Amino acid sequence: MSAQTNWAGTHTYAGRIETPRSIEEIQRIVGSAQRVRALGTRHSFNDIADSELLVSLEDMPADIEVDEDASTARVAAQLPFALVAAAVDERGLALHNLGSLPHISVGGATATATHGSGLHNGNLSTAVVGLEFVTADAGILRIDRRDERFAGAVVHLGALGVVTHLTLGLEPRYDVRQDVYLGVPWEEVLGDPVGVFGAAYSVSVFTHWAGDRTDQVWLKARLDDGDLPVADVWRGGTRSVGPIGPVGPVDEDDNTTVQGVRGSWHARLPHFRFDTQPSAQGDEIQTEYFVGLEDAASALSALRELADRIDPLLIITELRTVAADDLWLSTAYERNSLAIHFTWHSRPAEVTAILPEIEAALAPFAPRPHWGKWFAEAHANARYPRFDDAVELMTELDPTGVFRNPYTERVLGLG
Ligand SMILES: Cc1cc2nc3c(=O)[nH]c(=O)nc-3n(C[C@H](O)[C@H](O)[C@H](O)COP(=O)(O)OP(=O)(O)OC[C@H]3O[C@@H](n4cnc5c(N)ncnc54)[C@H](O)[C@@H]3O)c2cc1C
Repeated sequence: MSAQTNWAGTHTYAGRIETPRSIEEIQRIVGSAQRVRALGTRHSFNDIADSELLVSLEDMPADIEVDEDASTARVAAQLPFALVAAAVDERGLALHNLGSLPHISVGGATATATHGSGLHNGNLSTAVVGLEFVTADAGILRIDRRDERFAGAVVHLGALGVVTHLTLGLEPRYDVRQDVYLGVPWEEVLGDPVGVFGAAYSVSVFTHWAGDRTDQVWLKARLDDGDLPVADVWRGGTRSVGPIGPVGPVDEDDNTTVQGVRGSWHARLPHFRFDTQPSAQGDEIQTEYFVGLEDAASALSALRELADRIDPLLIITELRTVAADDLWLSTAYERNSLAIHFTWHSRPAEVTAILPEIEAALAPFAPRPHWGKWFAEAHANARYPRFDDAVELMTELDPTGVFRNPYTERVLGLG
């Protein structure tokens, strides 16, 4: 990652990057800028974070204040989930879920509805119970559930201001064990998606699209009541014994999380370890679409028809589930969702060419694209019942468009 690109190298930021050390400094920067945006850990794949001026909070104090009585933590927005998770775990507390990568900032992840998996697990934004913004007028806005705008403010796509701190709701800490099954037949997933994705606390299906069998199913079981017996064969798949990553066996010291061994929630829910480089080391492009869980089998069947087009460009697909929520621009807004993810080889022209085909195949299921990944059509309006309210809130808090950028113009119609 160069100083001016995102993590994957798929976008070069146009703006200069400022690194303030205090909230007052952020207020001064925002107050004198015509166009500005906060930059997180740069893990989005598109231009969502870009602006004429970028504010990275990486030099801000690394505040983590855990309130054990309230079961909450007030944390600095720039912190990666890994650091927040380790700190709350030490106090006997936990988040309800984590994404695949613990390196991503809490502020940036929750701004785009970043998710993990689990039939009953909302995305990471649903853990937010309070937000502190520096707003377009250089003032401070503290907002929580008591404010009727809160549900419109959590998934804000960077358009409401610079978030300096978030308060996250916590629960008692728990252990998880990850087990991986190889070669579960597609017919198991298509015939009983709720059974497959409900088989453990967090379930991921990693696969290509051709053939009769999926590549791997990762079951992350929550062990509140002690360890569970583990079957060697599950739904026609066999349990993997050696270390394995999403695309196959890895070395013992590779970057993926340990399987078959009970461990703390924050060491098992992400797929990658914090002390190593994740995924395809940045040489990749990502795309993801959310459809209603009730449409899972039909949507997956429609995409399997495109297997010979998709697979040559694909590093791996991951299928996960996300519980419905009430956050206006959440990709799981009022819809229990199947998240259909593609990690592509870094072949931008070919990926760009295939996205409209994928979107056409998914069109009957009203797909919502991940805000931070690549997608072709600007779907937003039709797919979000509270879209107009969300845009009104952006206009109310930022009447002159300080936080708008080409992405908000293209995707939200807010230029
Ligand atoms: C290897 C990899 C794995 C991933 N895994 C997952 C996954 O498991 N699940 C999933 O859903 N997504 C996943 N993503 C996508 C990623 O979680 C999102 O794109 C996320 O928004 C990136 O957060 P960031 O901190 O990098 O923010 P950036 O990409 O830097 O910014 C994203 C948006 O947040 C805004 N923003 C950032 N910080 C602030 C702030 N302090 N105040 C106001 N606005 C802010 C920016 O302006 C921008 O609009 C993955 C990405 C990568 C590269």
